[in-house]
Amino acid sequence: MYTRRKFINTSVLTGASLFIAANSVAEVISVKSDHSSESKPVVISTWDFGIAANMAAWEVLNNNGRALDAVEKGVRVPEADPKNQSVGFGGLPDRDGKVTLDACIMDEFGNCGSVAGLEQILHPVSVARKVMEKTPHVMLVGDGALQFALEQGFKKVKLLTSESEKAWKAWLKKAEYKPIINSENKSFRPDKLPGNQYNHDTIGMLALDSFGNLSGACTTSGMAYKMHGRVGDSPIIGAGLYIDNEIGGATATGVGEEVIRNVGSFLVVELMRNGYSPADACKEAVMRIIKKKPENAKHIQVSFIALNKKGEYGSYAIQKGFSFAVCNAENQELLLKGNSYY
Ligand code: ASP
Repeated sequence: MYTRRKFINTSVLTGASLFIAANSVAEVISVKSDHSSESKPVVISTWDFGIAANMAAWEVLNNNGRALDAVEKGVRVPEADPKNQSVGFGGLPDRDGKVTLDACIMDEFGNCGSVAGLEQILHPVSVARKVMEKTPHVMLVGDGALQFALEQGFKKVKLLTSESEKAWKAWLKKAEYKPIINSENKSFRPDKLPGNQYNHDTIGMLALDSFGNLSGACTTSGMAYKMHGRVGDSPIIGAGLYIDNEIGGATATGVGEEVIRNVGSFLVVELMRNGYSPADACKEAVMRIIKKKPENAKHIQVSFIALNKKGEYGSYAIQKGFSFAVCNAENQELLLKGNSYY
């Protein structure tokens, strides 16, 4: 078992990676754009914060646990991390100062559950799982989602941290809604604005367990300073997440409106069904987004990651700077640089 963190440049077959992340010893290894894990199980997830989330998921997978349990446990890590201002507790609020959370989960049987605009609950992914398991519905929103969560025994917490409140108050001075590309990835963040003023980014996680079954989860506080009531792609089955246990799974991060318009994650899975590799499927889905609105695409980030039934995985993004984390028996702390259009 390796515990060292490795950084892999996925864009080239040979040569050194330029990808350096903070607080890490980088070991550069060269691989192809598509990756095949040597054995099941495997878990992949979006962004640098996927590393810690994958480690929690791995505890389940490594004990022959179910992929569904792994993804729920995994994404609860960034949900509970106040330093992560784009997911869960400490997430940046909407323009009215309210932290509203979106999350969904999907299993190997095609069961799925989802919550949107959920306030005051630390783990929206676990509420989404309860929606899946305890109700005849797929999605609950706003007050109804909160009511259901409380009925299920979840406790109310204050999600707005003083840091996020400070950032919101600073944003209010201009009140300009303008998502910043790759705000989660500090190595690539183009903005030097105080307090992560325009932060967004989501954890999407896909796991293949030792039984060969797939599940996925996706959770976010959405676009910072969004209109109150705005729902992104992350809790929308087919947009932010999709799993088909015969084929594979996909999940998205970035400007949710573009992912919804193109039913992104479902598209990636359908492309894999038609023979695309995970990386090529992600690329084709990104190209659809770019083709429809080329001018808009220059200024936004959208990224997909995908994992197929064989344990092969890949990603593609509009902008450079996307990273995703991979964890399997070989290495629990891989961070990969995603290929991109720009
Ligand atoms: N997809 C999320 C949303 O639109 C945000 C993100 O992943 O950056 O709410």
